[in-house]
Amino acid sequence: MVSIIACIIAAALILPAVRKIQVLSRRDKCISHFYDLRAALDSYRTSNSASTYPSRLSELIDQGVPAADYVCPSSGALVGALSNVDLWTDYIYVVDLGGPHQITDIPILLCPPDNHYDVEGCLLYRGDGFVGCLWKFGFDRLLEQLYADTNLQIRVSEALTKRSKGRYRSRP
Ligand SMILES: [Zn+2]
Repeated sequence: MVSIIACIIAAALILPAVRKIQVLSRRDKCISHFYDLRAALDSYRTSNSASTYPSRLSELIDQGVPAADYVCPSSGALVGALSNVDLWTDYIYVVDLGGPHQITDIPILLCPPDNHYDVEGCLLYRGDGFVGCLWKFGFDRLLEQLYADTNLQIRVSEALTKRSKGRYRSRP
């Protein structure tokens, strides 16, 4: 009897730690997706005479990006067929604005905190090469910045509207 109770107590102590490790592992995998996508974006840009970024993430398929890379491991979303990548993609991709922007370079690639709710913040990619996590507060401030730019506001709204879930929906 004592050993059973000891096992229950041990499980109660260990399970949250295991879960935390799983969450961190998924977040790390999400970051590695971003590195893959960044490399593919750079490759796309240098291999096209127009030297522009693709208007849709699915265009990176030609750069050898696997379908799984378009879905955050923390989101629980299913990986769609390659032809449905834009439909199923889990990240917010803002690109091809034309004209000056306040947010240095494009593209911008976001994994909203929805997908990392029990760890800190989210991930993002900007044209300046940053790949990593932000605390939720930082992510909210970034969105405010994006919304402060009229062009970016439109594109971000479009991208957010495409998402069928999450709290970061299109603003009026
Ligand atoms: Zn993610």
